[in-house]
Amino acid sequence: MPEPQSPTPPPQEVRLRATAVSPGVATGVFVAYRPHEHSVKRRRIREEDVPAEVARLEAALLETRHQLHDMRERLAATLGEKDASVFDAHILVVEDATLLEAVNKQLNERLLNVDFLYYQLTKSYVKKMREVDDEYLAERAQDIVDVSRRVLRNLQGLKNDMALDLDGPTIIHAHDLTPSDTATFDRSKVIGFVTEIGSKTSHSAIMARSLNIPALVGLRDLAMQVDPGTEALIDGYEGLLILNPTPQTKYEYGQVTSRRHAEEEKLARLRDTLAITTDQRRITVSANVELPEDLPLVRDNGAEGIGLYRTEFLYLNRDDIPTEDEQVEMYRQVAEAAKPHSVIIRTLDIGGDKALGHLGIEQELNPFLGWRGIRLCLGRPELFKVQLRALCRASTEGNIRIMFPMITEIGELRAAKKLLAEVQDDLRREGVPIADKIEVGMMIEVPSAALLADVLAREVDFFSVGTNDLIQYTLAVDRANERVADLYQPTHPSIIRLLRMVVQGAHNANIWVGVCGEVGGDIALTPLLVGLGIDELSLGSVNVPRVKKAIQALNYHECRDVVDSMLAQSLTPYENLKWLEEIARKHYGELF
Ligand code: PEP
Ligand code: MG
Repeated sequence: MPEPQSPTPPPQEVRLRATAVSPGVATGVFVAYRPHEHSVKRRRIREEDVPAEVARLEAALLETRHQLHDMRERLAATLGEKDASVFDAHILVVEDATLLEAVNKQLNERLLNVDFLYYQLTKSYVKKMREVDDEYLAERAQDIVDVSRRVLRNLQGLKNDMALDLDGPTIIHAHDLTPSDTATFDRSKVIGFVTEIGSKTSHSAIMARSLNIPALVGLRDLAMQVDPGTEALIDGYEGLLILNPTPQTKYEYGQVTSRRHAEEEKLARLRDTLAITTDQRRITVSANVELPEDLPLVRDNGAEGIGLYRTEFLYLNRDDIPTEDEQVEMYRQVAEAAKPHSVIIRTLDIGGDKALGHLGIEQELNPFLGWRGIRLCLGRPELFKVQLRALCRASTEGNIRIMFPMITEIGELRAAKKLLAEVQDDLRREGVPIADKIEVGMMIEVPSAALLADVLAREVDFFSVGTNDLIQYTLAVDRANERVADLYQPTHPSIIRLLRMVVQGAHNANIWVGVCGEVGGDIALTPLLVGLGIDELSLGSVNVPRVKKAIQALNYHECRDVVDSMLAQSLTPYENLKWLEEIARKHYGELF
C-alpha cells in the first residue's frame, strides 16, 4: 500500500531588517533583477535546423548594423562627427567575417543554438583580448562586449537590456538600481524595490519616493536566500522585508495601510492651503519631478508649481539624444502641468550616479567628482545648446525658469548664461517666438558655491540649494553609499553654517532662495529650514501636504532663535537633530 502523503507545510515567514528609503506597504512576487548578466540558454538543434539558425544570426547582425548606423547618424547630427565616430568601431565588430565564420563552423560541429554559440565565442575572444596587457585591445574587447549584447538582444527579440518579463505585482530585488533601471520598469507591475546597496539620497530612492513605491536598501546577499517566485511583503515605513507573509501578517498590514490612507486623506484637505507660519511668514511649497508620470501628482497634492524638474531622465534609457523638438514638447507639457505656477527646469545634470553610455563618456574613477552637470554641458556646447534652444522655445507656453546645476564659481555661471544669450539671439533672429524674460537661477550644491553665495547672487534671479550634493561634498560622504550613511548628517553644524551663508547672500542681493534637496521633505528638519529663512521648499509631490501642515504649525521667530543658538553653541550633529525633532514633535507630533 502507498504511504499516505503528508501535506507540504506552508513556507516559514521570515523577517529581514533593512533601511527604509520610501514609505508604503506592498505585497508581490520577489524577482531578482540582474541586468548585466545576459541569460543565454543552451539548446540542442537538429542538423536540418542549421540553415535557419545561420539566417537568424545574419538577420540579427543586419538589424544591429542598422541600429548602429542609425545611432551614428543621429549622434553626428546633434554632437558632430567626432563624437559619432565612437560607433565606427562597433560597426566594424558587426561586420567582422571571422566571427561569423567561427559561429557557422561550430553550428555544424556542435549542433547547438546560435545564441549560445555566439555568446560563448564572443566571450572567449574578449577573455583572450583582455589577457594581453594592451590598452587598444582592451578598448576593442569592450566594443565586442557592447555589440554582442545588442546582437544577443536582437537574436532574442528583446527590446532593451532591462526588459523584464513580469506577470503581476512584483517586488524587484537588485544589487543596485541605477536611475535608468528604475525608469524602465513597468510601473503597473513593479510595486516595490529592495536593493543591497544605496541610500536615501541615491537617485533611485528619490524616484521611488516620487513614484510612491515603497523601497528598502541595505539588504545584502539576499538573492542567495530567496527562491524566485517567493511571495514578499515590503514595509517601507519600518524597513522590513517579510518573505512568505502569513495570512495574519497580511491582515495586520492591511490595517496599517488603511490607517495611513485615512491620515493621508486628512492631509490631502490641506491641498489648497498656503504654507504660512503662525507669525505670518509665507513659504512656497513646490514639487520635484523626475518622470512625466509624476506630473499629475503636482496639482493633486497642492504643490505650488515645480521647483525642480530633473531633465536628465529625458536622456536616459535611449540610444540617442532627444531632439530639440522632442524636448520642446516635453517642456511645454511640464509648464502646462505647473500652471498657474512656474516650473524651474534644471539643465542636464548627467554624471555621478546618472551615467549616460551613448555620449561616449569614459568611465571615471570618481564620477561624483568628475565630468558632471554644467561641466559636461560647457564641454559639449553643441549638446547643451539643443537643450537651451528647446527651453527658450517652450518658454512661451508658461512660466519656465532655467536653473544650472553644479556651478562652482562665477566663471561657469557666466559661461552658461552666455550660451543661453547666444541661443536667445539666434532664435530671435530666426523669428522663433520666445518669452521676453526668462528667469535664470542656479543650484547651490557644491561648498564653493555656498561660500561664494554673495558674489553669485548678484548674477542670478534665484538660488535653489541641492542639499543632497551639498552634504555629500561638504562632509566627504558618498550620498549613495549605505556604509557611510550614518555620517551623512544634514544637521552637521558646517551644513547649517553654509545654509546660513547662502540665505544671507541671497537676501542681501534681493533674490529668493529655495531648497530642492531631500531635506525639504523631512518634517523633522522643517524647523531648521524655516528658521534659516528659506523662501521655498521643493520636494516629492506626495509629501507636499505634510510639509505644508508642518510649516503652518511653526513660528518663524521661534525657529530663527533656535537656529541662532545652534550656530552659537558647539553642538554635535546629533544634538542639533534631537533639538529640531523635539520642536517638530511639540508642534506637529501627529505627523510622524
Ligand atoms: C541635490 O543635489 O540636492 C539635488 C536636488 O540634485 P540631485 O539630487 O539631482 O543631485
Ligand atoms: Mg545635485
